[in-house]
Amino acid sequence: MVNLATMNKIQIEDKEFEILIQNDNIARRTRLIGIQINVDYENRCPVFIGVLNGSFLFMADLLKEITISCEIGFTKVSSYQGTESSGNVKETLSLPDDLQDRDVILVEDIVDTGLTLSHILTEVYKQNPASVKVCSLLLKPTALKTPIKELDYIGFEITNEFVVGYGLDYNGLGRNLKDIYRAKTVAPLLP
Ligand code: 5GP
Repeated sequence: MVNLATMNKIQIEDKEFEILIQNDNIARRTRLIGIQINVDYENRCPVFIGVLNGSFLFMADLLKEITISCEIGFTKVSSYQGTESSGNVKETLSLPDDLQDRDVILVEDIVDTGLTLSHILTEVYKQNPASVKVCSLLLKPTALKTPIKELDYIGFEITNEFVVGYGLDYNGLGRNLKDIYRAKTVAPLLP
């Protein structure tokens, strides 16, 4: 079926993007992850912590699939400038401070180098939680600079390309797109 709401190509500022993952595919995957979390955390009451800004749509859609009792919080960090991870992680909205003995599930839009997540995990462990897992919509496995054992729930593994849409931005734009797009690479000129 042709999804008329989906555009195959979009332009944001100086960059052209092409479709990578359509919204109905994201929704299907999110539903499956939700079912898995409902089973894994049956009779527990985890705290979901969304990492802003990028996770806001995924967090909302995922939580609609969660049927067990749970609490919700947010944190905000920044490490990206343009299309490059700066590696310099800054916390701009603190974590909830009542995570002791709680089952924590961090919800991320994307794990690229993993530096942001490692920083947040270090801060979460300082509060002595009962357990910590990470749920990320996207993972770029070849970009990971540090292994992350808590990464149990992953929506899609993608290649090491810059993506926008469904919460992810390019210079602050594109977060409201329903689908996920990847930056088109310019073919090198032949000699
Ligand atoms: P990391 O610290 O893992 O390198 O980067 C994590 C954060 O950088 C993500 O939460 C996200 O905000 C941003 N990021 C990483 N890769 C991309 C990407 O391909 N597109 C966009 N828009 N943001 C990204």
